[in-house]
Amino acid sequence: MEAIDALERAVYLLDRELAPSSKVRAFQNARRTIEALDPDEVETRARAGTLTDLDGIGSSTSRVIIEAINGDTDGYLADLERRTEIPLGVGAELRAQLKGDCHSHSTWSDGGAPLRTMANAAKALGHEYLVATDHSARLTIAHGLNEARLRNQLEELDALNREMAPFRILSGMEVDIFEDGSLDLSDDMLGQLDVVVASVHSKMKMPRDAMTRRMVTAIANPHVDILGHMTNRKVSGTGRAPSDFDAEIVFAACKQFDTAVEINCRPERQDPPEELLELAVEWDCWISIDTDAHAPGQLEWQAYGCDKAVRCGVDPDRIINTWSAEDLLDWTRSKAG
Ligand SMILES: [Zn+2]
Ligand SMILES: [Zn+2]
Repeated sequence: MEAIDALERAVYLLDRELAPSSKVRAFQNARRTIEALDPDEVETRARAGTLTDLDGIGSSTSRVIIEAINGDTDGYLADLERRTEIPLGVGAELRAQLKGDCHSHSTWSDGGAPLRTMANAAKALGHEYLVATDHSARLTIAHGLNEARLRNQLEELDALNREMAPFRILSGMEVDIFEDGSLDLSDDMLGQLDVVVASVHSKMKMPRDAMTRRMVTAIANPHVDILGHMTNRKVSGTGRAPSDFDAEIVFAACKQFDTAVEINCRPERQDPPEELLELAVEWDCWISIDTDAHAPGQLEWQAYGCDKAVRCGVDPDRIINTWSAEDLLDWTRSKAG
């Protein structure tokens, strides 16, 4: 394995285990440093032990480079492969049925990798499609897309689709739900997108009645296909309490308006909690198992959501990403009327 590929693989694996971003950045920086050098110089330095004299190369990254050059297949990278491997549990069979991922980010908003890299990673996992759902404009902290930038993204998406066929990148957005339940994108643009995920990212502590009304208004919007990370809880680090809303009313609305409930697979979110997912199953809601990946390695997290879906008794026929891209598009088009 070439040094550059080894460093890129390390980035992928670190993202897969949700390593601190400083650690991921160290490997990204090392990759950039190596890329800018003559391969002969890299080899000479690897032999002389002077790689760490270079800006952006530290002890771990130099070890990965040296092991790649020496053809050592049981070193740092092999350890990382083993340590970060995502075990397939009761959801293994369901995972094999999933044909795509309906929630992902790229460098168009706050993702860590270009759309092309994300799409290639999804393809390598066996997916038929990936929905590009970068943030909408209101989320300035995430460099959300206004209409003009969204149009630019759609142009890139078209070009990539011509190149990557039969793999498909479906157009979409993770659109912010405003406090009154309206959405952070015009109806006209929403209507042009293949798949729309709507999520709450602000005022998560609204009173119960107001939050219920806010969510139901978004769920009832004919352009909304998926309700993203519904409780907004965070289960790791300092954590975050779930938003308060009437789940019976929210799921009744999801059922009534054919809006899928997302199983958000991010390890720090694990949203919705199992008791809520079981309630969604009772309401016979559509379900979408999404990674909300902000980096290629995170696209593997669907395994977590599949385990949870099986534990909570979700019928695979109710999971919209067990369908082909064409069937998914028929569904979203029929909903938008
Ligand atoms: Zn979100
Ligand atoms: Zn997201």
